[in-house]
Amino acid sequence: MNTSWGPRGHAVVIGGSIAGILTARALSETFARVTVVERDRFPEQPAPRRGVPQSGQVHGLLARGRLVLEELFPGFTDEVVAAGACLADLQADMHWYQDGRLVKPAVSGLLGVGVSRPLLEHTLRARVAGIDGVSFRERCEVLGLLASADRRRVTGVRLRGLDGAVGSELPADLVVDASGRGSRSPAWLEELGYRRPREESVRVRTTYVARLYRRESLLDGRALTACSAYPGTPRSAIAIAQEGDRLLMSLGGWTGVVPPTDDAGALAYAESLAAPDFAEVIRTGKPLGEPVLMRFPASVRTRYEDLADFPGGYLVAGDALCSFNPFYGQGMTVAALQALALRDLLDEDRQHQDHGDEDHGDGHRQDGGHRDDPGARFFRAAARVLDVPWGMAVAGDLRFPEVEGVRTPRTREMGDYLTRYRVAAADDAYLGTVLLRVTHMLDGPAALTAPDVVARVEAGFRASGVPA
Ligand SMILES: Cc1cc2nc3c(=O)[nH]c(=O)nc-3n(C[C@H](O)[C@H](O)[C@H](O)COP(=O)(O)OP(=O)(O)OC[C@H]3O[C@@H](n4cnc5c(N)ncnc54)[C@H](O)[C@@H]3O)c2cc1C
Repeated sequence: MNTSWGPRGHAVVIGGSIAGILTARALSETFARVTVVERDRFPEQPAPRRGVPQSGQVHGLLARGRLVLEELFPGFTDEVVAAGACLADLQADMHWYQDGRLVKPAVSGLLGVGVSRPLLEHTLRARVAGIDGVSFRERCEVLGLLASADRRRVTGVRLRGLDGAVGSELPADLVVDASGRGSRSPAWLEELGYRRPREESVRVRTTYVARLYRRESLLDGRALTACSAYPGTPRSAIAIAQEGDRLLMSLGGWTGVVPPTDDAGALAYAESLAAPDFAEVIRTGKPLGEPVLMRFPASVRTRYEDLADFPGGYLVAGDALCSFNPFYGQGMTVAALQALALRDLLDEDRQHQDHGDEDHGDGHRQDGGHRDDPGARFFRAAARVLDVPWGMAVAGDLRFPEVEGVRTPRTREMGDYLTRYRVAAADDAYLGTVLLRVTHMLDGPAALTAPDVVARVEAGFRASGVPA
């Protein structure tokens, strides 16, 4: 495996959506030039676009994601709020229904920002486009990879301009695939003679139907209402306030259930939910467009970190590496955490080089020590980022008996405990805050089983009178 990030020359990022933008931001600290190649033309004003079919769907940004974006782009929150986005306490200003019960509202100090996906992307892209050395090539499709004669290293990409330009080649010292769920990396690797990575998937068969409303006084002015699906009730919903005095509401169907798109059907569907808020929006709200349906058949994690052999100068990030059931709202936060991990690895390498322990391209430094392959280190770091959110998403999906997957006695025991937890959280705001902090990736899942938390859960569950 080639062990060098190469001269700090030119990096190419495939795909200019959230993961591509954040990757470019991370690379810009090390590479003199970063080119983001994107199939779409970016709209001049924030608007959904074809290459990101999910851009018209509800996108919640987890609290951790907002903090990471703030670290990468200081002033990010103020900027989107100035553009009309809504900043809100995630427990006081939100109705959060878990297993049909409202988690007790209280001031949590956790801040979330209600912003449309197009404005979020537009804001981040403008910031990155302003960085010296970063450029975007729009209406340009990557068709494949260029490689060294021995195929040990990716040396660039093959392109096709979509506005009549002929095909061309773009050499690079590092190429990062951030082209989303439809990534062709497994096939491209195979063409170069490498094995395809193993894929893990959880077929949760969700469908989301989003519709935009004028916000006015909907949800009694609250910024957010979310209602989870649970076994026996495979229906979810979420509504988030956005810039422009709008509210984006989405009805979700799980395990093959498809929410209706006609008004009467949507109302009946919303009325079947524990939260009255959604039916109220349909009854009294003023729609600003037609419902938009999107299917999401399966969460998929591609295990690049397991490959023993991988070409140098090539990485995969964002949804191309792992794409989650959207209801958990993890994708953008995980992409941001991967970008931080990449930035830190590059920084570490730069410091090694500054201290004169440059490798010779064979993995051996001048001082005789062995520095691991940077690509392998990135995939391991990304796997560490992914392990917890993937574990949480899979556990959530496997609560549904219809979803295939491996269930151990431990997962069943944890599932039962979390069911009692949700019951207790209806009367105990502290439990609600702990659950929110874990869901928003501020704390690890171990917080849910801290001794004081377990004691409150068991006492609260007994007091609820709900049969065990
Ligand atoms: C219905 C739905 C709802 C979601 N809700 C949330 C949410 O609430 N919160 C959250 O955090 N995440 C959510 N996500 C996930 C989130 O959209 C993604 O995690 C996020 O956009 C990062 O994805 P990405 O940048 O890796 O890929 P994508 O956003 O899919 O973008 C890929 C980009 O690559 C470009 N491209 C593809 N192939 C090529 C090529 N060959 N050459 C050039 N360009 C190419 C595309 O045009 C596109 O711009 C949701 C996803 C879905 C499907």
